[in-house]
Amino acid sequence: MNRRDVLRLLPSVAATLALPGAALARRRGSDLEVTDLGERLFLISGGGGNVTVFDSPEGALLVDGGAAEHAADILELVRARSRAGRVHTLFNTHWHRDQTGANLALGSAGTRIVAHENTRLWMSTEVNCKWEGRVYERLPVEAHPNETFYTSGSLDFGGERIDYGYLPQAHTDGDIYVFFREANVLVCGDVIASDAWPVIDWTTHGWIGGLVDATQTLLELGDANTKFVPGKGRVLSRADVQTLHEVLATMKQRLARLLAQGMSVQDMIEAAPAREFEARWGDPSLFIANAYPGMVARYTQLGVSIV
Ligand SMILES: [Zn+2]
Repeated sequence: MNRRDVLRLLPSVAATLALPGAALARRRGSDLEVTDLGERLFLISGGGGNVTVFDSPEGALLVDGGAAEHAADILELVRARSRAGRVHTLFNTHWHRDQTGANLALGSAGTRIVAHENTRLWMSTEVNCKWEGRVYERLPVEAHPNETFYTSGSLDFGGERIDYGYLPQAHTDGDIYVFFREANVLVCGDVIASDAWPVIDWTTHGWIGGLVDATQTLLELGDANTKFVPGKGRVLSRADVQTLHEVLATMKQRLARLLAQGMSVQDMIEAAPAREFEARWGDPSLFIANAYPGMVARYTQLGVSIV
């Protein structure tokens, strides 16, 4: 179903045509690609993180908004391709800038922005992301989510039942899924990754055990036909998410054993505990380094004795 008939269009043409399949709009350095997800849903990629769009007569509902430098182009594309020509609601799957770049424009215009309460908190404070060596300034209040929750919720919107819920302490401590039940499209944010190691942002309380649990929750929500939308990259199948879950569970177990032997991060990387996964997933060094602080902090949950 993921048609990727890529057409290169001038922006003026992209703005006036509502193509049923997929299109690529190139403008001011943006390479935005649209993938049809069926049932009035489509995916915009190439503007930072993935942007999932549900079109309804009441307006478009977005899950994540891409990066700030692409926000104007993304929103123009959404308006051009949606029937109501406006954005009604935005979900943020977590606080990262690749997901929340459209918040300021949409929030300033009064759009409803829904997220986990922890996501709002991270956006309202300075975040020193140590593993990136980068400090993120607090965002203006207009960019903050204006409707937050702690556990889960559901809404009927444009004839679709949309369920959303918390995935505790996985990629960050504010991750949520958004599940379009009728369309069977499950948007998962950066909790899942497309043929790459998921990022564990331990500075905002992500950890490997949370990723194992979160991927299990996603598998239980979906079925064999579910389209799983990651924060970046191609749409995944249930088999892809099952494999990811098993790799994460295996890595948690292996790293816990190495931690119990008193290993440092460098020792763990040199022990090559992910050797057979590297062909598909790439260099695991960052994954191991970012798994480490969370495992040390939660060693009582690892089922191993630290020597
Ligand atoms: Zn992220």
